[in-house]
Amino acid sequence: MGTPGTVLITGTTSGVGLNATKALVRQGWTVITANRNPQRAAGAADQLEIPSHRLHHILMDLGDLESVRHAVESLSVGVDALVCNAAVYDPKLKQPKRSPQGYELSMATNHLGHFLLIQLLLDRLKASSHPSKRIVILGTVTANSKELGGKIPIPAPADLGDLSGFEAGFKDPITMASGQTFKPGKAYKDSKLCNMITTQELHRRIYQDTGISCTSLYPGCVADTPLFRNTPKAFQVIFPWFQKKITGGYVSQSLAGERVAMVVANPDFNQSGVHWSWGNRQKKAGKQFSQELSDKATNPDDAKRVWELSMQLVGL
Ligand code: NAP
Repeated sequence: MGTPGTVLITGTTSGVGLNATKALVRQGWTVITANRNPQRAAGAADQLEIPSHRLHHILMDLGDLESVRHAVESLSVGVDALVCNAAVYDPKLKQPKRSPQGYELSMATNHLGHFLLIQLLLDRLKASSHPSKRIVILGTVTANSKELGGKIPIPAPADLGDLSGFEAGFKDPITMASGQTFKPGKAYKDSKLCNMITTQELHRRIYQDTGISCTSLYPGCVADTPLFRNTPKAFQVIFPWFQKKITGGYVSQSLAGERVAMVVANPDFNQSGVHWSWGNRQKKAGKQFSQELSDKATNPDDAKRVWELSMQLVGL
């Protein structure tokens, strides 16, 4: 089971983050939930009957770097583990939405907000005396071209190209890390690729010196969470059915939450640099394994550039 401590989780109003909160509280952890609407997070936790004395709800809009800074400055407690879970997915957008800093909003929320949060929490994680400190980042199959789901050409596979969009400052008229034409579904995949690159680079940069284990995971296809709220209505009906009946990839929200909790707390997952998966077809009592990632996620030269450019974009 591992030693309980204090974990900060982003995005806990629904889905994987909410259910991971429940699983971790059940194991004795105190959870700091970080959301753009803490009241919504408290209401969702109440509905799942998560004991409120184990929860601290804080305001953090991951899409706004100033909000991330302010939230960390206001945090008065130590942190033993961090889960970067919050995400937005808006595949039908015609025009990009922009963060207060002027960045395309899905990359800003899913990658840059979390990237800054990790940097700002590193000292607290280093100072923690917890025996197994961890940073856990939610990755996904659709951003890993080593897996079938990562090869889907609609709208395009994840690809940061030559990073010229990041290099040019990532502001209007630029919308994509590669500097190419805006494709909202690809912007999500690119941001998740950045999440997995960040995990790999964190592992290379900090694990040896700090003992903080850095891992990502694919919890399975949790096809019925509000992540898909901006997809066509027919997709929202067909996709969960397809994943349940045809691919066998469907995972319930509670099982996905338990998987995140395992990666945070279970001694079996204390292996830095791993991208954990349970596969794309769910098997009864299926075991976790280390899923190979694409070169795009593991190439150390590319990762160094993503890291350095992300540092600049978040103002560090
Ligand atoms: P979800 O139910 O939509 O949860 C996303 C969470 O992020 C919500 O609590 C949402 O809160 C929060 N959020 C969005 N924008 C935010 C912002 N600017 N600041 C703070 N919080 C924000 O989706 P999910 O399916 O559980 O996804 C959770 C994670 O799992 C994501 O990283 C996703 O990429 C990953 N994942 C999901 C699947 C899947 O099949 N669902 C598969 C692989 C990986 P609001 O109420 O404020 O919107």
